[in-house]
Amino acid sequence: MAHIDEALTTRGGDVCPVCGEVATARIELHEYRLFECMRCHSWSSDALYRNAETSFVPDNYFSNADSDLDKWDDLSRRLASPGHSNRAALDVGCGTGAYLAHLRERLGPECRLAGIELESDRVVQARSRNPDVEIFEGDARATLPELDGYFDLVTLWDVFEHVDSPAVLLKDLVDVLSEDGVIYIQTIHEQSILPSVGRLLYQWTGGRLRYPAARTHEAHHLVFFSRLGIDLLAAAAGLRVRDMWFDRLSRDRMDGSAIVTAVSSLVLALENAFGNGLFINLILERDPSRDTPSLR
Ligand SMILES: [Zn+2]
Repeated sequence: MAHIDEALTTRGGDVCPVCGEVATARIELHEYRLFECMRCHSWSSDALYRNAETSFVPDNYFSNADSDLDKWDDLSRRLASPGHSNRAALDVGCGTGAYLAHLRERLGPECRLAGIELESDRVVQARSRNPDVEIFEGDARATLPELDGYFDLVTLWDVFEHVDSPAVLLKDLVDVLSEDGVIYIQTIHEQSILPSVGRLLYQWTGGRLRYPAARTHEAHHLVFFSRLGIDLLAAAAGLRVRDMWFDRLSRDRMDGSAIVTAVSSLVLALENAFGNGLFINLILERDPSRDTPSLR
């Protein structure tokens, strides 16, 4: 597996990090390239490998966390089925710990909670906000073996698109999932209108118009998932999609001029009304028809 890992597009090779097929460089931006997988049509980027400069401002990501309350409540409603209990939950890429605090309030003191976060500043904030939650600092895959027991709910909010080997991470997460546990992922849907238009404008202009492709595939995002890619990724980890829905990026989370954000948010609202969206939400569960990886 090690050499396959190294060959991923996100690590300088030409292998799709979603399904493992060959991917082709189709878009050449100033500092990085975007690859299309010929099998699953997910896209990926070598921005991290090339040390491309990112415009990622974590404060913008986390300052609006309270506005996520509706999404958190929506997820809780969708998970509230007779067969699902939350005795233990893990938030991967927990940021400043806002969602863990919400889970504690919702699930009560008996629920065992844990978080993993890469950035040490955010780890400090997450710990002070959640004194009774074990927050691990580090890369998710490297940290998972340190965790005790299994989790009924594993969440990845806005994390999966930042991971250079999502298929490998998903398999590792199955190892800490309880028998009837679920994994929730919110990530970027490449078959949304904005990234599609960004790519098409590049292609129609023979690569002269790069800005829309770059804005819709920023350097801090490494993988852009297609629906087929999601299905292949889940199946390879012994999982299946139990629930899937789309939503949009709210205008208060966009940066750019007033006109650009107004037009973008209108387009995304229209798209959402037709059942598609820039964000894909997934609840994954073990697929009983497959040989699911055994518990540790
Ligand atoms: Zn692929």
